[in-house]
Amino acid sequence: TNADGTINVTLIPGDGIGPEISQSVKEIFSAAKAPIKWEEVSVAPTIVDGVSTIPADAIASIKKNTIALKGPLATPIGKGHVSLNLTLRRTFNLYANVRPCRSVEGYKTAYDNVDTVIIRENTEGEYSGIEHEVVDGVVQSIKLITHDASSRVARYAFEYAKANGRPHVTAVHKAPIMKMSDGMFLRACREIAPEYPDIQYDEDLLDRVCLRIVQNPAPYADRVMVMPNLYGDILSDMCAGLIGGLGLTPSGNIGKDASIFEAVHGSAPDIAGKGLANPTALLLSGIMMLRHMNLFEQAAAIEKAALSTIAEGRFITRDLGGKASCDQYTSEILKKLGQ
Ligand code: NAD
Repeated sequence: TNADGTINVTLIPGDGIGPEISQSVKEIFSAAKAPIKWEEVSVAPTIVDGVSTIPADAIASIKKNTIALKGPLATPIGKGHVSLNLTLRRTFNLYANVRPCRSVEGYKTAYDNVDTVIIRENTEGEYSGIEHEVVDGVVQSIKLITHDASSRVARYAFEYAKANGRPHVTAVHKAPIMKMSDGMFLRACREIAPEYPDIQYDEDLLDRVCLRIVQNPAPYADRVMVMPNLYGDILSDMCAGLIGGLGLTPSGNIGKDASIFEAVHGSAPDIAGKGLANPTALLLSGIMMLRHMNLFEQAAAIEKAALSTIAEGRFITRDLGGKASCDQYTSEILKKLGQ
């Protein structure tokens, strides 16, 4: 904490629409008097020995502040380029990916009562990247599950449930088939559960959860679902689809050495620089970040101002069926926050 009571947070505006939506978030946070001091850094890739990497001062800033809000990064295409998102995940041990999906009033979808939270193990599982060809025409891809990583993400799921008033944690798995790997994931969850006696713990099969959520999402509104990497990747996009797509979905990457919050969507090069972008997903990611920092009051005020602006429907952006620019939408939220 700084002498004036503010807390330093790294801001990566990102590419494409990133700078526009970051500007909107900064103005809204300032109107809500969120005690944040932004430290803005660029992560435009620098080339070292022919390989793209993230500039050292961006890494240093996140290391120092341990919390960052990040705009979308365009993934460079071509040889020698690694995904910068992947680099950040590895650099900061971002072990849990948190994806809440809540219906937005005023944006009509098949259901108006979706309120799911998915916590995905983010470092191993099916995405361990260990693949090889045994003989011509036969490949193996290894699903790596460790007790350590499973316990770490399970504990985070219970902590998240406690902090966010969700009385129920469900581990989602395919242990009848993946007996050893998902079996170990479940064992880790079962070991942590008794440490949280106020939170109900149960387990459910991935396929059954998919079927039930699309038939009736209501029973999932009181819980946190925790699961191995691939299951979380797919199930969280399915839930995003239920609330109207990626434009409204925030996410948090929780790590050992830092936590990075970001919108789920990309840099939207087709509308970049035109003032048409919807800043809501980045704003909701910022709200998650405030709650992560225990700044609940400011989070609630910003959430109310943004969601009521969407519900009223007068100043919504084109992707939601409105006519407003990013600036007009932002101004309406600022007005609701007393500016
Ligand atoms: P995208 O999410 O950028 O765009 C898909 C469509 O959604 C486009 O029509 C776009 O205009 C629209 N859209 C997205 N966000 C919007 C917003 N906030 N407001 C209004 N409309 C919005 O996906 P893409 O085109 O596949 O990817 C573009 C670039 O972004 C690629 O380089 C990709 O690698 C990168 N990307 C980055 C991240 C990340 O940084 N986390 C995530 C996904 C994609």
